[in-house]
Amino acid sequence: MSHNTIAIIGSGLSGTLTAINLLRQEVPVHITLYEQEAQQLNRGAAYTKNNIYQPLNVPIDRMSLFSNQPDHFYHWLREDEQRIKVCIYGIERDNYVPRKVFGDYLKDTFNNIVAETGDLHHIAIAKNKVTAIIPAGDGYDVESAEGNNHYHQVILASGNVPPQKAIFLPEHCRDLDLPIVHSWKGLPHIDSRKQVLIVGSGLSMVDAIIELDKQGFKGQIRVLSRHGLIPLPEVPEPHNHLTLTINPSVYKQLTAFRALAKEAEAHGSGWRTIFHNIRPQIPALWQALTDEEKQRFLRHVQPYWEVHRHRVPQFSYQLIQNLIAAGRLQLLKGRITDIDNSTNGKVTVTYRPRHTQARVSFDTDLIVNCTGPVTDLSRCGDPLMEQLIQSGAAATGPLEMGLNTNEKGEVINANGQVQKGLFAMGSLRKGNLWESTALREIRQQAEALPKVILAKSIVVT
Ligand SMILES: Cc1cc2nc3c(=O)[nH]c(=O)nc-3n(C[C@H](O)[C@H](O)[C@H](O)COP(=O)(O)OP(=O)(O)OC[C@H]3O[C@@H](n4cnc5c(N)ncnc54)[C@H](O)[C@@H]3O)c2cc1C
Repeated sequence: MSHNTIAIIGSGLSGTLTAINLLRQEVPVHITLYEQEAQQLNRGAAYTKNNIYQPLNVPIDRMSLFSNQPDHFYHWLREDEQRIKVCIYGIERDNYVPRKVFGDYLKDTFNNIVAETGDLHHIAIAKNKVTAIIPAGDGYDVESAEGNNHYHQVILASGNVPPQKAIFLPEHCRDLDLPIVHSWKGLPHIDSRKQVLIVGSGLSMVDAIIELDKQGFKGQIRVLSRHGLIPLPEVPEPHNHLTLTINPSVYKQLTAFRALAKEAEAHGSGWRTIFHNIRPQIPALWQALTDEEKQRFLRHVQPYWEVHRHRVPQFSYQLIQNLIAAGRLQLLKGRITDIDNSTNGKVTVTYRPRHTQARVSFDTDLIVNCTGPVTDLSRCGDPLMEQLIQSGAAATGPLEMGLNTNEKGEVINANGQVQKGLFAMGSLRKGNLWESTALREIRQQAEALPKVILAKSIVVT
């Protein structure tokens, strides 16, 4: 019997959870899970062992790996004293745990299912970067440093692509030799006499501040972003059942959202619960917009969407407020217009404050890039994504975001046809779904995909 052979590219939450769900099925499969970064195996970028302080942004009771077992994570935590010891932010259902702990949970759940199903399924780990995927015969050739391997089906679960260059800098400064670190790689130890500039004010900025605080950093921090908005705190709110009606106009969607928020407040609930309620509707709300309306959303609404939708635990928010009150953190709005690195080890940054023509300069010792991932994969610098798009096996999604996929997660190629046996998930589907990067959506995709894949099962007897 020849089994259905499946390559999964990327072993973060998307890839590992899809593997877990495939192994839970009764049809035998041969899976190869590729991972280019050893420390991210079965963890991905957000849940590595380094994240011992950075909390999940979502409480324990919403972080189960399985939609039909909401208490799975909570019970896993409670099973073992050692797990509880590292949960510095509490262990009740509405508490937050460090992201490392969630990584431990994902890895442990994966290892358990591999051990339990070893007689039926076969799984291999390939610690290699995949550089090309080429349609061949009844499937695909997957190229990596290990050579060429053939699979019937391939799942792209490669997550976000970090920016290769500091694109937040004006073009003439991008090739300067500057002390820039990328927040995803963790921060070096920074002397308290130094000054730090964080560019970007979203969730990664909050992570960087937490890391600096845990290091004992006592120096000056500046946070610069176009709008100067920071993620709002999570506050438990009573449930309501308010949902939005689908409308092809961003303006009307926004007006309707505001009206719902008012209604919720009037009933003793709040706007946060509406986000929870409309999560399953978000793909339909997004897809109802024309490209022009989507652009309008990105230009005018997205900065506000980000800080309302991607919230942080109250204690993370409070840390930032305390630093601001102590005069140690300054929130700046504007764009960098120039950088001078010629003054004895320091960098002079000049920026234009928002809505002004003024220029303001300050010195800094380190720049932390928290500007988020690249969305246009056709020129993101990632060899695999660029190869897939240049070969026509895949195409960029709406507004050049992610890869184009259909409702099942099948990749749509450059000719607009389904690329049979090639699937994408997670942030790669952002252009089609808008909301496709957090556990709730990834879990839903990872549960649905095995059914599609095994329905096409190529089991030859
Ligand atoms: C700072 C931060 C905090 C977050 N907190 C939360 C939270 O609290 N709750 C929540 O629901 N979500 C959170 N998220 C969202 C998070 O992105 C997802 O939950 C999840 O981690 C995404 O997993 P992924 O597998 O899609 O991507 P990744 O985690 O990026 O995993 C993809 C993996 O693929 C590998 N890879 C990529 N290309 C190749 C290649 N060519 N060959 C081989 N391997 C490859 C990468 O090395 C990586 O390990 C957070 C995200 C960030 C960045």
